[in-house]
Amino acid sequence: MITVNRYVCGYCGACVGVCPVCALELVETWIEVSDGCIECGRCVKLCPTGALSLEEAQG
Ligand code: SF4
Ligand code: SF4
Repeated sequence: MITVNRYVCGYCGACVGVCPVCALELVETWIEVSDGCIECGRCVKLCPTGALSLEEAQG
């Protein structure tokens, strides 16, 4: 799953535009990741502040 480090995110909105399935949404000052995420990793590579990370699901 994609996790967002809210202390690092600059809310630039760049990740929202790059997501192929529109799983990211900028809600006021918070990036939301929906269940539609296919874990393609595009947003992780694109984020200029390194706020996004792709982690293995537990269990
Ligand atoms: S990993 Fe891919 S599908 Fe998931 S939120 Fe990022 S850009 Fe969208
Ligand atoms: S690209 Fe990174 S810094 Fe920009 S809104 Fe997305 S998570 Fe935040």
